[in-house]
Amino acid sequence: MTTTSFETPSNFIQNIINEDFKTNKYGRRVHTRFPPEPNGYLHIGHAKSICLNFGIAAKNSGLCNLRFDDTNPAKEEVEYIESIKEDVKWLGFDWGDRMYYASDYFEQLHEYAVKLIKTGKAYVCDLSAEETRAYRGTLTEPGKESPYRSRSVEENLALFRRMKEGEFEEGARVLRAKIDMASPNLNMRDPVIYRIMKAAHHRTGSKWLIYPMYDYAHPISDSIESITHSICTLEFEDHRPLYDWLLEALDIFHPQQIEFARLNLSYTVMSKRKLRQLVEEGYVSGWDDPRMPTISGLRRRGYTPGAIRDFCDRIGVAKANSTVDIAMLEHSIREEMNFQAPRVMAVLRPLKVIIDNYPEDRVEELEAEDNPENPDMGTRKLPFSREIFIERDDFSENPPKKFFRLFPGSEVRLKHAYIIKCERIVKDEKTGEITELHCTYDPETRSGSGSTRKVKGTLHWVSAPHAIKVEVRLYNSLFTRENPDEEDDFKACINPESCERLSHCLVEPSLAQAARGSRYQFLRNGYFFVDPVDSKGSAMVFNRIVSLKDTWAKIMKTEQTLK
Ligand code: ATP
Ligand code: MG
Repeated sequence: MTTTSFETPSNFIQNIINEDFKTNKYGRRVHTRFPPEPNGYLHIGHAKSICLNFGIAAKNSGLCNLRFDDTNPAKEEVEYIESIKEDVKWLGFDWGDRMYYASDYFEQLHEYAVKLIKTGKAYVCDLSAEETRAYRGTLTEPGKESPYRSRSVEENLALFRRMKEGEFEEGARVLRAKIDMASPNLNMRDPVIYRIMKAAHHRTGSKWLIYPMYDYAHPISDSIESITHSICTLEFEDHRPLYDWLLEALDIFHPQQIEFARLNLSYTVMSKRKLRQLVEEGYVSGWDDPRMPTISGLRRRGYTPGAIRDFCDRIGVAKANSTVDIAMLEHSIREEMNFQAPRVMAVLRPLKVIIDNYPEDRVEELEAEDNPENPDMGTRKLPFSREIFIERDDFSENPPKKFFRLFPGSEVRLKHAYIIKCERIVKDEKTGEITELHCTYDPETRSGSGSTRKVKGTLHWVSAPHAIKVEVRLYNSLFTRENPDEEDDFKACINPESCERLSHCLVEPSLAQAARGSRYQFLRNGYFFVDPVDSKGSAMVFNRIVSLKDTWAKIMKTEQTLK
């Protein structure tokens, strides 16, 4: 087991909640929500938000709602809603009976807009999109007031009603909040709160011809659901004044918006728009391609919900944006698998070995422990015979220094079996390729027999007549650059070698019963997952979740010794 101790990540949000408990701000209530827009599949960044929202509610005996932010009719699809529900459940969270849609509130949102008009806090504006932009000003220059800003309440009410009834074309008019065109915050310069969109909505059909803007719908949806702490990502910090202004202007229940830093991972992209491009343009096999940072991709790769939750806990919640090393996520799955995954033998690139002094028709049933870290897992039988396969890389005809594996004349131990010695190489006459090795074994060295003879290298192997042929897929990062978002075209740095398929791998016979979706450690090769989609009948496909080399544990260790 790794002994690295991670410091508890600071959670400034819990500190805010503790403070609210002291001042009795929300009557000791904690109610959060996870508000995805159903325009794509969830990714690991969303997992962080899910763990945070559901986690902090659970920790404080509170509640967390699932709310689909479906205010934009043009982009949303039912497929996404189903996948989001599945992913949140799979991660281990439960919204109970509190699954909502922002579109549930369209009526109420409309009534509130009318209320804003009646109190002189909103007006219908006829400027074109281009004019509106020109009037808005810049960060250094104040904006200019729209000539339509001083319309009477009656005129605004009538025009807004006619917008709703479909009398005007898209873009002809909008409803704007009347705030302050000179505000240093551009979001406060009379933001648009309703626009005309003659599009059908997946839930409300063709009922609405005007749709609320996100910045308007979000605070009100939070308020309607009596959310106490509305946790969102940092880019909404500048929108908070608008969030607060709207709730005050409407004089309704006022949740507290709190921003935290978005999760970014190295060697990947995290925006749904970019991920959708990868899917739609065929760069990956789908949203659940095992190379994707989506929750469904990670699940298909073999990650467990526990490892993802553990990762989200470890990275903590920060106020400043940063990029997390993907090695940290890998560390979380390794730690879980170290105890849980049975350790078996699988040869990815087989090279035949014939043990000349082993009787031809003999088969021994060797005893192999399933996981030395977890003795409760027990043992299994492993057949050994005269012909075996080892990893091609474990043999070298001209070994470099410190090569402790097999080479002409050298001895190695076969895991759970005997010490063998390489006597002779057989090559293909035409190609010069090594086709098989001839070895001898020392019958006195059987593992567990009390033999004390030691050699430096131990190799994994499978018995040739007993091995099962499978396909193995090895993955590398999908991008060759650490931060693809910084490239002009993120697709230009897609890694052409992100998936290596090995179709002639051999695994030990105990895996004949391997269930779809089960996980194993292939000794020395990493942790593997039986692909539940592409494994067909007895033809199994194994995805490598991660290799065994834990760079993150190494980093943590170095940091600790430096302390
Ligand atoms: P994307 O850019 O990937 O489409 P988004 O913010 O538009 O992301 P939403 O569906 O609106 O996606 O996000 C739902 C919730 O998840 C929001 O509260 C959002 O702040 C949060 N979230 C999205 N991406 C991340 C991330 N990378 N890290 C943490 N939280 C995130
Ligand atoms: Mg969004």
